Amino acid sequence: MPCCTKCQKEESLYYRAYSGEYLCKKCFLRSIESKAAKTISKYSMIEYGDKVAVGVSGGKDSLSLLYVLKMLFDQHPNNGNELVAVTIDEGIKGYRDESLQIVKDFCAQLNIESKVLSYQSLFGIDMDQAMVQRSSQKISSCSMCGTFRRRAIDIAAETVEADIVATAHNMDDQLQTFIINLLAGDVERIGWIYPEPVQYTQTGMKKVKPFVEIYEYEIAFYALQRDIPFQSEECPYMNESIRTDLREFFNRLERDHPGIKYNAYRSMTKISKVLRSSMPPSQPNKCSICARVSTGDVCSVCRTLSIL
Ligand SMILES: [Zn+2]
Ligand SMILES: [Zn+2]
Repeated sequence: MPCCTKCQKEESLYYRAYSGEYLCKKCFLRSIESKAAKTISKYSMIEYGDKVAVGVSGGKDSLSLLYVLKMLFDQHPNNGNELVAVTIDEGIKGYRDESLQIVKDFCAQLNIESKVLSYQSLFGIDMDQAMVQRSSQKISSCSMCGTFRRRAIDIAAETVEADIVATAHNMDDQLQTFIINLLAGDVERIGWIYPEPVQYTQTGMKKVKPFVEIYEYEIAFYALQRDIPFQSEECPYMNESIRTDLREFFNRLERDHPGIKYNAYRSMTKISKVLRSSMPPSQPNKCSICARVSTGDVCSVCRTLSIL
């Protein structure tokens, strides 16, 4: 490999096709960390003194996010930011146990507080049971689990009194979500994709995605180069969804046309910004069962639980 385009000193180990740069290990790692830092400041994701709860699954993306935020916070101790890892135990035998251990060890190594909450303790049912009970229902495992997970992360973040929930969604995730909403005709949701956070729960928490301008495969490469341990086994309940098709579609396009994902992301962000600004301020309803903020009379979690 040729010499690093950035520092002109070290031998490169990564070719960034969309920018034409050859990068050495140090310059590659730094590029990811500074991209995350720039994204955070560009969209005012984290303010001075905020306590940030990171949703950590044990996969490469979320552990990398935890590592990067820890590093950025340590570099600026006067900002007074705090970090907590929150992990949700869905109750999936043989799958979740390994990642819980990885998260526990990694947090101990980095000296980060960690909090684990289970579906069982919150909803009185775990995923293994839910999968048996829902057998005849028309509800996909991932959408059911996603509904529960978002609520569980909110509650975990409230428990540790966080101001911010950070998740490791990357540019690829964002593009897929955009197209899924577009194909479903769900224009309002496209407005919600815009990366600038809004306060959303009773406690005024915000959700942020600091990796939203980074390619998925660069985060994977980052985790590898940083020797971040992660669980690679996939969830046994994962269903092949349209998301998988879109991931492959965009990766194929990117292979032949480097930078096309980034261009698509930029267009998408502009569209979502316009839609966000034209949205009327939401009038939060309260769920008649659990009393949490909800768009309808009954929230999606209570609705799912009533079906089970
Ligand atoms: Zn370099
Ligand atoms: Zn409810």
